[in-house]
Amino acid sequence: DSADYDAEVKSICPFCGVGCQVSMKVKDNKIKYVDGINGPANEGRLCVKGRFGFDYIHHPHRLTKPLIRRDDAPDKGLNVDPANPWTHFREATWDEALEKAAHGLVDLRSYYGGKSVAGFGSAKCTNEEAYLFQKLIRQGFGHNNVDHCTRLCHASSVAALMENVGSGAVTAGFNEIENAEVAIVIGANPTENHPVAATYFKQFAKDGGQLIVIDPRAQTLRRYASHMLQFRPGTDVALLNAIMNVIVEEKLYDRQYIEGFTEGFFEFRDHIRAFTPERMSEICGIDPDTIRDVARTYAGAARAMIFWGMGISQHIHGTDNARCLISLALLCGQIGRPGTGLHPLRGQNNVQGASDAGLIPHVMPNYQSVTDPEVRALFRHIWGGTEIDATPGMTVVEIIDAIYRGEIRGMYILGENPAMSDPDVEHARKALAQLDHLVVQDIFLTETANFADVILPAAAFPEKNGTVTNTNRQVQMGRKAISPPGDARPDWELLVELANRIGLDWDYDGPRSVFDEMKMSMRNLHHITWNRVENEGSVTYPANSKDDPGQSVMFGDGFPRRAGRAKFTPARVTPPAEAPNDEYPMILITGRQLEHWHTGAMTRRSAVLDDIEPEANCSLHPATLRKMGVAPGGHVRLSTRRGSVEIMARADRSVAEDCVFLPFAFVEAAANVLTNPTLDPWGKIPEFKYSAVRVDPA
Ligand code: SF4
Repeated sequence: DSADYDAEVKSICPFCGVGCQVSMKVKDNKIKYVDGINGPANEGRLCVKGRFGFDYIHHPHRLTKPLIRRDDAPDKGLNVDPANPWTHFREATWDEALEKAAHGLVDLRSYYGGKSVAGFGSAKCTNEEAYLFQKLIRQGFGHNNVDHCTRLCHASSVAALMENVGSGAVTAGFNEIENAEVAIVIGANPTENHPVAATYFKQFAKDGGQLIVIDPRAQTLRRYASHMLQFRPGTDVALLNAIMNVIVEEKLYDRQYIEGFTEGFFEFRDHIRAFTPERMSEICGIDPDTIRDVARTYAGAARAMIFWGMGISQHIHGTDNARCLISLALLCGQIGRPGTGLHPLRGQNNVQGASDAGLIPHVMPNYQSVTDPEVRALFRHIWGGTEIDATPGMTVVEIIDAIYRGEIRGMYILGENPAMSDPDVEHARKALAQLDHLVVQDIFLTETANFADVILPAAAFPEKNGTVTNTNRQVQMGRKAISPPGDARPDWELLVELANRIGLDWDYDGPRSVFDEMKMSMRNLHHITWNRVENEGSVTYPANSKDDPGQSVMFGDGFPRRAGRAKFTPARVTPPAEAPNDEYPMILITGRQLEHWHTGAMTRRSAVLDDIEPEANCSLHPATLRKMGVAPGGHVRLSTRRGSVEIMARADRSVAEDCVFLPFAFVEAAANVLTNPTLDPWGKIPEFKYSAVRVDPA
């Protein structure tokens, strides 16, 4: 009823990378409710988070004043009550807080050098804010130690795509599934994590498409699947190489495509011959006949797509897993036409855009390498003479380790929550406590803000303007619907304030002027203007002209690599970093669940979402619970080599009997107390999807 609201503002859902367009109904500076509208990624649909999860912005825990750590505060630790932080922090004016934030960082720069300060930016911010954040670190401190949560989700996928395809983004939007005959969904649970994208996958199956679901959990999507392969965790390369072995041995590959568009096939063919379905079946647990059937189904399709999630990427062999998926598509020529492609489903609503904007330690905006002298010359020119450090910077987990070594002594963390999201999180929390100076900018007093010296209150997503880029490469407009509470200010404004106080000479009058500067170095944004995004609602990159709505499918005429050819990179079977043993006999898999988003800072402060899923929980097979004598809803203790948590256990037949699935949104049973920090050597992503664990009745 329009009487319920005074204004209607079109924007983007702040949660996942699907990028659903929403209409926010506003009255008295409050969002009353949210509807889905006809965006290209959602066509009016929303999931429960987008529909009901907006009220976190009105939660009483919102930060409304700058805070400074009190001189007589207790030692730093996870010990601050967000409703009553006054024994640890005191209110400050903006001027005092910004001066203290800036001077603390500048003092470290003067005394220990610029590399003593690192930054974590955020995929929850806009493209313009991500761009400004990496610029502040690179220009203000003279190095590339800047990263964000892509390191914990798809860094390995991007490493493999950059290496073999020449571009880190998806080759086709997920809506292309409408044109496919066969689709593989592997290591992803879109029903919970990309729910609106999942509706397209389900419709595809209902319309007769063959949906091949490959996952260690027999998730809900199996009901729509022609094939459900519940393989052993951590054996992705064995299974995928076996599928490709069948395609090579039975000559099901697309010879013409391989000759025209790829390199490295013959070495790859020789490599793959050892990975027979019979041998690999013993490792991955899928019978050889099923492997052959899946190989023939994918290779026999006229048009086929591959979708993947963090089940692929979050392994010490995450880059190898993604290399296999790329090789599979190249073998069968399934890239570059409608209904074909490779699509890593991106997590945060702007993780694609934040990565594009250069919030990554080894590349500048648009994935331009810091080691390339021409790239550095370009940015020197655009950034008024700034010398760009030619050394790739440290990644998230490496930065935490560098704090222990005393190399990094100060940090600026915007919108990230490493005190919850990092592997072996007690290790990360101790590192944060050790910093000489920590500036946290956020909308809530997060677990990470517990360790801050200065906290800068930021505007939430519906309280500011800016562009965001979804998993489909669609650049869309996030619009301000209401004013921020109290003294909170948009992140871009705070970045400009801080930059000028650390000695930079920045002059931006709003996100639009930042976007215009981004266009000077970002080929992706060619033919995409602020006005186009504003007026058209969504423009996909690449766009071929100022009228082109953008290309959903890329690489029909070659790849942005040498001679236009994509590359086969062979992958070997690597076991997980730690094997189960008598003491830790089961396998821990962490992930998300439908109602809660990442570290829970937003969704656990949303009334509807928290009412549906209020308690920390893990999932175990009913037979496993029976053996332990624990009833569903009872409590168990999960222990790994890093720590232990106590948590309510649900019975879930989709989880294998030797596995436990644990969401990571709950601070009271933080999954990352348990996880293994060992990194994939290329993507530098931790192995969140496999830890040896012991489960006991609590
Ligand atoms: Fe938001 Fe993702 Fe749900 Fe769409 S699918 S409403 S973008 S959380």
